[in-house]
Amino acid sequence: KLEMSFAKRINALQPSATMAVIEAAARLREQGIDVISFGAGEPDFDTPDHVIAAANKALADGHTRYTAGSGTTSLKQAVVNKLKKDNGLDYEANQIVISNGGKHSLFNIMMTLFEEGDEVILLTPYWVTYPEVVKLSGADPVYVETREEDGFQVNSEQLLQGVTRKTKGIIVNTPSNPSGAVLNRESLQAIVDVAISNDLWLISDECYEALVYDGEHISLAGFDGAYEKTITVQTMSKAFAMTGWRMGYSASSKELATAMGKFQGQATGCPNSIAQFASETALTVPPVFLDDWRAQFLGRRNYMVKALNEMTGITCLMPEGAFYAFPKVSSLFGKKAGDVEIKNDMDLTKYLLDEAHITVVPGSAFGASEHVRLSYATSLDAIKTGLGRFADAVAKLN
Ligand code: PLP
Repeated sequence: KLEMSFAKRINALQPSATMAVIEAAARLREQGIDVISFGAGEPDFDTPDHVIAAANKALADGHTRYTAGSGTTSLKQAVVNKLKKDNGLDYEANQIVISNGGKHSLFNIMMTLFEEGDEVILLTPYWVTYPEVVKLSGADPVYVETREEDGFQVNSEQLLQGVTRKTKGIIVNTPSNPSGAVLNRESLQAIVDVAISNDLWLISDECYEALVYDGEHISLAGFDGAYEKTITVQTMSKAFAMTGWRMGYSASSKELATAMGKFQGQATGCPNSIAQFASETALTVPPVFLDDWRAQFLGRRNYMVKALNEMTGITCLMPEGAFYAFPKVSSLFGKKAGDVEIKNDMDLTKYLLDEAHITVVPGSAFGASEHVRLSYATSLDAIKTGLGRFADAVAKLN
């Protein structure tokens, strides 16, 4: 077999869990079937016009060459100003690394901090990329479960169950993909306490910060004693609808930023010059459009969560942030529609695609097989039609 000659690290890597669903949906669409997708991990809004204008201007002005490996100083300064204004955090430009997306920042961090023999704690349900990017560094992911009954919050007892002599870091994601949970001050304090007493790095993925509907987003780096240990990860993707531009950044100690800049400089050279100019404008101009986006997401969320809770056998917590609902569907396991038996989240996903022509993502992709994930980054009309079909399909199960 050909793969036998590939590196071990690639054979250990899981393919993207959403890919199978997307491909199956594409096959149905080819047959002319109208499939409604709840799989999207990106806003359905367009990049704001002033950001596009800034990219056009960067091109016209000839900003088409390599920049410094870790990004332009002026974009780093715009990031510094943003972190001060929105998060109350003090950084200098040499602590910022601009990257090709939040995912790339996470990769830089793992490759710089972790190696074989290390363990990194992930909170379940986790974003699909975390285990894979930890494994790529050579380290092992260790899972600490959070519970729906607790609103997916976490305490120190839970965290300490995952800590061993090998533990080097914890990845924290608030607001969370997939659960939509926003970690409260107590949970974050517990995480900081465990990190300080065990000398762990804190990787704080705050990519959905701008999309909080209830409660408040609190940055981990602002806690007493956490600043030196925390690497904040951010993206232009979600708040500015810039997923395809591939722009993200991290904020950390100067030493770590320098080390990550060295890694990135050899791996990818530098981030895209035009997207950097556009991002500078995005971060500098007040994001007035966000109020409208948030209002739309809120309306869709409320509709979706109510509709899910009205289905027999399904319960859904109100997600406080991001744009995902993460209903518990395990009461449907063991039921049948005709010859089709729903044994698990994968079967339910397939049944919903075949029967209701809707796509959801099975919870096992996030380490939580009693759930499925639905994105509400799609129109309210699509949500109404799709959830109507979802309800009809569920009603046929017995
Ligand atoms: N972190 C989380 C939790 C995400 O859901 C995503 C995107 O889906 C990212 C980071 C990274 O996004 P990007 O690489 O587009 O910045």
